[in-house]
Amino acid sequence: MPRLNTSRDDARNADIQTDACVTVLLPLPLGRGYTYAVPGGLHLAPGDFVAVPLGPRQVIGVVWDTPPDAVPEGKLKSVLERLSAPPLPDVSRRFVEWVAAYNMAAWGPVLKMAMSVPAALQPEKPVRAYALAPDAPEFKMTKARGRVLGLLADGPPRTPKEIAAEAGVGPSVVKGLADAGVLLRADLAPPPAFEMPDWAATGPKLSPDQQTAADDLRAQVEGGGFAVTVIEGVPGSGKTEVYLEAVAAALAKGKQALVMLPEIALSAQWLRRFEGRFGVRPAVWHSDLTGVQRRTTWRAVANGEARVVVGARSSLFLPFADLGVIAVDEEHDQSFKQEDGVIYNARDMAVVRAQLGQVPVILVSATPSLETDQNVQGGRYRCHHLADRHGGAALPDIRIADMRQDKPERGRWLSPSLVGALGRTFGAGEQALLFLNRRGYAPLTLCRKCGHRLQCPQCSAWLVEHRLLKRLQCHHCGYAARQPDACDECGAEDQFTACGPGVERLAEEVAERFPDINAALAASDTIYTPAQAEELVRRIEEREVDLIIGTQIIAKGYHFPYLTLVGVVDADLGLAGGDLRAAERTFQLLYQVAGRAGRAQRPGQVLVQTYMPEHPVIRALAGGDREGFLAAEAKDREGAGMPPFGRLVGIILSAIDEALVDEAARALGRSAPRSAEIQVLGPAPAPLALLRGRHRRRFLVKAGRRVNIQERIRNWLKATPLPKKVRVQTDVDPYSFM
Ligand code: ADP
Ligand code: ZN
Repeated sequence: MPRLNTSRDDARNADIQTDACVTVLLPLPLGRGYTYAVPGGLHLAPGDFVAVPLGPRQVIGVVWDTPPDAVPEGKLKSVLERLSAPPLPDVSRRFVEWVAAYNMAAWGPVLKMAMSVPAALQPEKPVRAYALAPDAPEFKMTKARGRVLGLLADGPPRTPKEIAAEAGVGPSVVKGLADAGVLLRADLAPPPAFEMPDWAATGPKLSPDQQTAADDLRAQVEGGGFAVTVIEGVPGSGKTEVYLEAVAAALAKGKQALVMLPEIALSAQWLRRFEGRFGVRPAVWHSDLTGVQRRTTWRAVANGEARVVVGARSSLFLPFADLGVIAVDEEHDQSFKQEDGVIYNARDMAVVRAQLGQVPVILVSATPSLETDQNVQGGRYRCHHLADRHGGAALPDIRIADMRQDKPERGRWLSPSLVGALGRTFGAGEQALLFLNRRGYAPLTLCRKCGHRLQCPQCSAWLVEHRLLKRLQCHHCGYAARQPDACDECGAEDQFTACGPGVERLAEEVAERFPDINAALAASDTIYTPAQAEELVRRIEEREVDLIIGTQIIAKGYHFPYLTLVGVVDADLGLAGGDLRAAERTFQLLYQVAGRAGRAQRPGQVLVQTYMPEHPVIRALAGGDREGFLAAEAKDREGAGMPPFGRLVGIILSAIDEALVDEAARALGRSAPRSAEIQVLGPAPAPLALLRGRHRRRFLVKAGRRVNIQERIRNWLKATPLPKKVRVQTDVDPYSFM
C-alpha cells in the first residue's frame, strides 16, 4: 500500500527518485493523496486524470502538484493509465484545496465533488456512420439499394437513421449493404451537446439605473480580474436583465459564464427567459440530471463547449475551461448552504472561486444577507441599487392581519379579512397565493385521550401527516408509516387528532370556502422535478389555476402577471426557535413572497397573518423598512459578537451509542481551547438530539473576526483522539443550529 503524503518536506528527503513518482489525489476520505510510480513512456502533468491501484481496487484520481512522498521501492505501485478526459484545471485544483481548508474537510471528499461523474472521464463514444466503400465487392442491386448508393455517392458519411430517412429505405437495407461490405464504417465525432448562445442579440432597453449597473458589470467582465458586485433591488426591478448583460459580455469575450440559482430544478421560467434572449438553452446542472446528461454536461464544461451553465451549489465544482463571470442569484438564500457531506456555503465559495480564477462575481438579491450588506458597507464589495420596479409597477400594499382580533373560526386558519380579500380577488378574475412554509397536512398528530404525540422512532422530531399520501412522515430522515389505529401509549382507538396546518390542510379549508375555484399545491413533495414545475408554471400563466397554496418553493423569482394577492398564513412560523438568523431569514422569505404580488399592471396586495404584530420583523415588513431592520439586526449581532462580526463554527459529534457520544463529548469538552479570544460553548444535546438513529451532541465555537478559528479547532481535535464510532462534523459559519 502506498503511504499517505504527510508533509511536503518528506519529499525533499526522498529515498527514491521523486521525478519518477507523482502524487495522486483520490476522491476518497483519505487525506492528501498517495504516491505512485510513473511507468516509463507515460507523461503525466498535474491535473491529469489517472487510474491507479488501491489495495485490490482500481480507482480514478487526479495527478496533484504536491511533491510525492518517499516510499520504499518494494511498496511503490504504478499508475495504470492516463484517461483521455481534459485535465482538471489548475484553478479547480486550488479551489479543492481552498474549500477543504476553509470548511475543515479532507481534500479527497472535495475532489469527489469536482469529479462527480466518473463516466465523463472515459473516452466519448463516436457516432456510428457509413460511407461508400471505395472498391465495393460484387453485390445484388435492388431499387432500394440503388437509392442508398445514390445518396452516399457524393455526400458525407451519415448515420443509419439518416440514410434510411433520406433514401426512403428500411433499416434492413442499410444493414444488408453494410454486411455485404458495400458501406464502410466512417464514424463521426459526437455532435456538440450545447450550441453557442447568441450573445450579440440585444436585450431590452435598460432604464438609466439598470444601464449604469450593466455598464459597470460589462466593463468588469471585459477587463477581467476579481471584484465582487452586489446587485440589490426590489423584486421585479430588473436585476436579472442586468446580470444577463454580464453573461453576454463574457460570451462576447469567448469566456464561459456560471449562473447559480437556488432550487434550480424549479427554474423553468428562468430557462425560458434565457432562451428568449440568447436563442438556446443553457447547460443546466443539478441533482436531477440523468447519467447521460451529467456526463455530457461535465465534458462540455471541461472542453469549453458549454458556454453558460445554470446550476445549483455543486456547479461551482465543474471543471470550467475558461470561466469569465459568476452570478449568484438570490445570494441570501439558505439553500446555498450545503448541510451534509462536506458542509459549505456555495455563495461564499463562489466568491473564492472567482478570486482564484481572477474573474468578477455578482451577488444578486432583493434582500442581501447581513454578511453581504456588511461587506458593502465596509467597501469590500461594490453595490448597485435598482430602486424601482420595471415599468413603474407599484410595490404591493402590505397589511397586517392581527390574528388576536381577526380570528379564524376554530379549526380554521384563514382570518376573516384574508377570506374577504381572497373572495374579491377571485371575483375580479385574478390569482392569489397562500404561503405557508409547511408541507403535508398537519405538523403534529396526538392522541386526544392521553396526549401522546406521534414521534419518529429514529429522530427527536414529530411525524408529519401527509394525507394525500395517507402516511405519516419524518421530515428529517424520511421515515414513513401508516397512521396507527390505536394509541400505543393508552390503547385508545380512533382518537388521533391533527394539530396545526400544513398546505394540504389549507387546501381543504379553501375547497370548503371556495368550492368553485381551482387550487394548486406547490410544495417539494408535490412538485419535485423540473417537468412538474414547468407544468405548474404553465397552468398558472394560462390562468387554469386561481389559487396557489405553496411553501417556499413558490416564493422565489417567479413572475405571474395576474397574481395580485399574497396571503402569508403564518408569519410567525420562522421566528420561533433560537436560530441566529431566524429574524433575518423570516424577513427575507416574507419579503420575497410579498414580491410575487402585483408584478405587472395590476397593483398587488399582501396580507400577513400574525399573532405578533409588534415583532420588529413584522413591523419592518409592513413598513417596507428593510434598511432599518438590517441596521437593528446588525447592532444586535455586533453586540453579541455573532457573525458577521465574529466567527462561529459548529461541531457535531454523533454515534449510535448514546453513552459513547456523551463520553466523547465530555473528553472533547475537557480539552477545549480556553482563551480570551476563543469561546467554546457546549457540549449540549443538539435540538435534534437523535437523528437517523444517531445521538448528537453539539459544540459551538465562537471567536473574533481575526482569529484563525479553523486552525485552533484542528489542533484541538487532533489533540483529542475519539473512538472511531463517533463521527465528528464541523460546520464553519453554521446556518443550521439543529
Ligand atoms: P428581478 O430579477 O429584479 O426580479 P427581472 O429582471 O426579473 O427583475 O425583471 C422583472 C420583469 O421586468 C421581467 O419580466 C423583465 O423581463 C422585465 N424587465 C426588467 N427590466 C426591463 C427593461 N429594461 N425592459 C423591458 N423589460 C424589463
Ligand atoms: Zn426521523
